[in-house]
Amino acid sequence: MRRRLLEEGILDRRHRPRPEGESILLPVTDEIPGAVRCRLEALPERAELPRHELVGGIAIMQDDDPEAARVLLSSRPSLHTVLLPASPVEGEYRTRRFDVLAGTPTTRTRVIEYGLRFDVDLAHAYFSARLATERQRVLEGMSDGERVLDMFTGVGAFAITLAERAGIVFAADLNPAAVHLLIHNITLNRRENVVPMLADAAHLARLGFAPFDRVIMNLPMAAPQFLAAAAGLCREGGMIHLYALQGGEGEYFPLIRAVTSGEVAERMVRTYSPGKWHAVYDIIVER
Ligand code: SAM
Repeated sequence: MRRRLLEEGILDRRHRPRPEGESILLPVTDEIPGAVRCRLEALPERAELPRHELVGGIAIMQDDDPEAARVLLSSRPSLHTVLLPASPVEGEYRTRRFDVLAGTPTTRTRVIEYGLRFDVDLAHAYFSARLATERQRVLEGMSDGERVLDMFTGVGAFAITLAERAGIVFAADLNPAAVHLLIHNITLNRRENVVPMLADAAHLARLGFAPFDRVIMNLPMAAPQFLAAAAGLCREGGMIHLYALQGGEGEYFPLIRAVTSGEVAERMVRTYSPGKWHAVYDIIVER
């Protein structure tokens, strides 16, 4: 669990974990479902480190403080670069610009996630380490041999993870830099059942695919507008995982009900901004 939280960048390393009965309470920096509030002892030697998110060997800070960045860089041998976002996540490709605060001037790094290796370039293709647990949750719900479609694959983190159980995974993205890294990551992880596609998700329905057992839709700002296309690509009884940014519980139920009468489960994935959060809807397709 500690490793999972570290990989997602939400383990609070400034506080000491606390045993309680047969459990251990681990401190986190972000709200997560099921967490409890309690007092934990601070670790003074780490209290000086600035707040940051870890992606492989890169730390992303929120404050423009090169001195603090140098302290951060020397605090962990695995770090090679400290970055500061110079733009929000933006555009169709969902990328952002960065300034280098300390270390090697690069936005490229290698992320290890549940034994898989993903080479990412934060300035050129979207990647979020915070979805690591979510990818495992979807994997655990799969049956062997499934036909999977990942409509907005980025560098392939979902596709390559799910390929462990899938018969075949088609992985599409319209960002050429993302598909370049996807192809590299397929080879890096020796996956022989992932088909990379440089494609607009809006065109997939016209390509004559046999129906899919499972469709991943991870484009939280806009995926709902592709939902009808995804439902058309999914077999009767198949599953769609729709990731959506929302400001109210069940916000996308009316849209979902327009394409399926099947069972739908909604969960919070993570907070986004005050009053907004990323939700996932697990949708069974029944027409
Ligand atoms: N699923 C990946 C992950 O978890 O790391 C990436 C998700 S990222 C939020 C969304 C991705 O969708 C981006 O890589 C972007 O380039 C891609 N994208 C945006 N619009 C698209 C479209 N119409 N068709 C295919 N891909 C698209």
